[in-house]
Amino acid sequence: MLNTRQIISRVLVFVRPMAGLFAISLFFNLLFSLMSALTLAIVEPLFSTLFNGGNPDLAPKQPAPMRDSLSLNVHLDNFVQYFDAFVHDLVVGPDMTSTILNLGITIFVIFVIRAAAKYLGNITSTRLEEGIMKSIRDALFTRVTSLSMDFFARKRSGEIISVLMNDVGVLNMSTVNSISQLWRETTTVTIYLAILVMISAKLTVMAILIASIGAFFVRASTSYLRRYAQRMQAAQADYTTTLQESLQGIRIVKGMGLESIMSARFAAQTAQYVRSSLKNTRVIALVPPVNELFGIAAIVAVFYVGGIALGNGEITPSNLMRFLFLLFGLMQPISIIVNVVTTMQRGLVAANNVLTILDQVPAVQSGDKVVSTFKSNITIDHVTFAYEQDTVLKDVSFTIPRGQTVALVGASGSGKSTILDLLLRFYDPSAGTIRIDGTDIRDISTDAYRRMFGTVSQETVLFNDTVIRNIALGEATPDMARVEQVARIAHAHDFITAMPEGYQTTIGDRGIKLSGGQRQRLAIARALYRDPDILLFDEATSALDTSSERIVQEAINDVLAGRTAVVVAHRLSTIINADIILVFDQGRIVERGTHAELLAAQGTYATLYDLQFGTDHASGQ
Ligand code: ADP
Ligand code: MG
Repeated sequence: MLNTRQIISRVLVFVRPMAGLFAISLFFNLLFSLMSALTLAIVEPLFSTLFNGGNPDLAPKQPAPMRDSLSLNVHLDNFVQYFDAFVHDLVVGPDMTSTILNLGITIFVIFVIRAAAKYLGNITSTRLEEGIMKSIRDALFTRVTSLSMDFFARKRSGEIISVLMNDVGVLNMSTVNSISQLWRETTTVTIYLAILVMISAKLTVMAILIASIGAFFVRASTSYLRRYAQRMQAAQADYTTTLQESLQGIRIVKGMGLESIMSARFAAQTAQYVRSSLKNTRVIALVPPVNELFGIAAIVAVFYVGGIALGNGEITPSNLMRFLFLLFGLMQPISIIVNVVTTMQRGLVAANNVLTILDQVPAVQSGDKVVSTFKSNITIDHVTFAYEQDTVLKDVSFTIPRGQTVALVGASGSGKSTILDLLLRFYDPSAGTIRIDGTDIRDISTDAYRRMFGTVSQETVLFNDTVIRNIALGEATPDMARVEQVARIAHAHDFITAMPEGYQTTIGDRGIKLSGGQRQRLAIARALYRDPDILLFDEATSALDTSSERIVQEAINDVLAGRTAVVVAHRLSTIINADIILVFDQGRIVERGTHAELLAAQGTYATLYDLQFGTDHASGQ
């Protein structure tokens, strides 16, 4: 985990663009503190006025009557006197009634300013906080979506969601908020302390020494608080993951009757959160009272020592009274600071989670050459690849000539989908290169490069939106004529227009309102919409029943004619029509050629073919 200073300075990076708002917020907070201090400071003249028959004996007079052991006090005492004189001038009128009236008005005005400062301070703080959370969330989203596939293989998406939703909120609640609260309260404390020192440095030092014993206690609590906070954030990530996975897999959850198991898992995770939260609260709740005890001890000590000083004539009764008042007044801001420091621990943990994601670097880095089409070929040159330890592609070389269809066949797990992932640059090869018209794809801007591809995979991802928007994905203004054209090619037009709202029909979460075959045909239409240079089909029909498979297969065969395509095929019609067939076995290309050549060779392909389609070579289906 990053240390407190690092975390705060990194969080402040998000505060910086709103420095103006932050300054305004601080100003109002400062104003509020000042006014609060003023209400207390005015107490003494108030009493003098009342007890001296409206004539506070506060007019500037001879230097300090109070002899303190610290000589520093002599001119600080002057300040107190000037302040009192100022109040005197402000308040004292020609007679008792007007003095009391003035006093009343002054106090009222102070409170009006204080209330206004509080109100405006609140509004500014909210604006600031919401603004900061927004920019952190935006930065997280941009970062997460820019990361490479390996990140998503490692990280549960529920965890990422939880950081974006929960941790950012916690970060705000107990970091951003805390920073401004800390600022406000330390300002108050500083002002109070300054006044206290002016009255009596000796008593102030004594009070601080006693009260600071409590600070050690606060310090000791923070490591516990962080541990519990970590568990709380982890529990939130856990139950968010359960929620997210259950929703995503709701068909399976229901189909297999897993509802009660998922509910039990969720309940266990929320219970874990409650447990950690309680432990956290036990510590958080213990710290302030303990701290307060030391505060009270300090006040009692001042009362005792100050009382003796009063007897010796070293301090005036009104100064001692003011000192004690201020000391009492200090209790609240200090307990707020203690509170902030303890609750802030959770914010620091959350901030650390946020920063950890922000610090992730995409494994696949975009190049800067802009290539948006290709002329002659894509070459896979001695490519070796491992996701983790195990090598899944071993020294694979082949060429995809423009306008031709390359079919990949081979047993499940032999590395066919991995080839497509590498072509799309979801990963970079561990060794070897992939070149497009001779240019290493690592030198090309990934955005432009990937736009050349249209992909249809086994499991189609559709969004809960209209048919149009799913086909023209990401397009602000879909080209309706084009949408219909590609829908026709994909054999999707008929079923789309048969739906009540046609192309405007909303298809439900991940296309839940459509059949598997319909989803695949939408996926094909989508892949065609941008008129891609290369089509990638990864067992696009394998999840379908026989009759929808036939329709989708017809669509695919129509689409492939004259296009560049890499097809992971398990249907004979696709394979037979392919220009080149590559046979994969455990990450290696073991055979290559046309259908006729490979059959004649009587090798792996022939065996595979016999297994899959029987010995009736002539049937073609
Ligand atoms: P095919 O598409 O031919 O069935 P794949 O290319 O999907 O095979 O997988 C090749 C090998 O790579 C398999 O052993 C599989 O377990 C492994 N694999 C696939 N994806 C990942 C991944 N994201 N992380 C780790 N291993 C993976
Ligand atoms: Mg596969």
